[in-house]
Amino acid sequence: MDKNELKCALCGNKLTFRYKSMSEWNISGYLCGVCYDKKLSEFYISPDRRDIVKR
Ligand SMILES: [Zn+2]
Repeated sequence: MDKNELKCALCGNKLTFRYKSMSEWNISGYLCGVCYDKKLSEFYISPDRRDIVKR
């Protein structure tokens, strides 16, 4: 029954809930919550965007 088992494209952990990666990240497959969170904050904290995010 584990042929449907999905793993995180970054850390390789089993996925209980899969997060779809953004095309900008160049990752094929799904991410776990931790990696998704990490990538998301990296993405929004990247230097180009810092000024935009500032309130
Ligand atoms: Zn992961």
